[in-house]
Amino acid sequence: NMHMNRPPLTIRLCGPRGFCAGVDRAIQIVVLALKRYGAPVYVRHEIVHNRYVVEGLEAKGAIFVEELDEIPAEHRQQPVVFSAHGVPKSVPEDATSRNLFYLDATCPLVSKVHKQAMRHQRLGRHVILIGHAGHPEVIGTMGQLPEGSVSLVETVEDAAAYTPADADNLGYVTQTTLSVDDTAGVIAKLMERFPNLTAPSADSICYATTNRQEAVKAAAPGCDLFIVVGAPNSSNSKRLVEVALRAGATRSLLVQRASEIDWDDVGEIGTLGISAGASAPEVIVDEIIEAFRHRFDAKVELAITAEENEHFLVNRELRDVELTRAD
Ligand code: SF4
Repeated sequence: NMHMNRPPLTIRLCGPRGFCAGVDRAIQIVVLALKRYGAPVYVRHEIVHNRYVVEGLEAKGAIFVEELDEIPAEHRQQPVVFSAHGVPKSVPEDATSRNLFYLDATCPLVSKVHKQAMRHQRLGRHVILIGHAGHPEVIGTMGQLPEGSVSLVETVEDAAAYTPADADNLGYVTQTTLSVDDTAGVIAKLMERFPNLTAPSADSICYATTNRQEAVKAAAPGCDLFIVVGAPNSSNSKRLVEVALRAGATRSLLVQRASEIDWDDVGEIGTLGISAGASAPEVIVDEIIEAFRHRFDAKVELAITAEENEHFLVNRELRDVELTRAD
């Protein structure tokens, strides 16, 4: 009986983990739009950075495109949803000029950062955006303001090298999914060089990012392996891998599905940490725990550092749509 020989394993399961209110809302918007308007519903960019979620919505009739010109003329009356990461202002403008009906699934906490950036600009400040080049949220936030009015700073080195035209009129915002600790370092460097730099009136890094990093930090010390469930293009998930390593996990891996786990590579472990990025569904966390149970005599300990009660309303157009179990 293989079960008698399974080595013991303690699994520390972090909480909060997985879906945040913004991801939950974005997925809801696509599901409700399918119910109200019928298939197909177009979605510009992966609604959230997770293959499993995207494939689930495709099976229900969503069609994912990168740009609006991919939507065929005969489907112009069908809605197009903008992803949770937010979009540059040019995108809704482009949709309107193409006579498309759009539903914006930008997370309200990303919209809040957009407003802060616009506020800095209105008050005459040049905007510094701390974030990762190329990420859709960064493209969206930069695209709230005219070209040239936002400077991207990614690292402490960038902060040390940055040369503004007017050092006394600067304001910053950040991407919502950054490392809390790394960002504090970048801000400290900027503040040291530009003492009049104005902070946004509320932190740009969101509650979900902060809470998931805190939980990983608390659970990681002493873990032989730390698994973060998430996609390679998910910013907040990648940050959790780094946080786990820095907090003392011997190894840390980003895993999308249980089938990706290389069991020879896992080897002999006694303590395993598990968390999940804000776009990773709980079914995959369960799948991975099950996979470990097959090979180990695993006991799961909950490592909870916060409670979350955030919930964001969907777009007005969709609030009265009623779902049945089949949806
Ligand atoms: Fe919104 Fe934060 Fe979730 Fe991004 S990670 S969708 S900002 S709640």
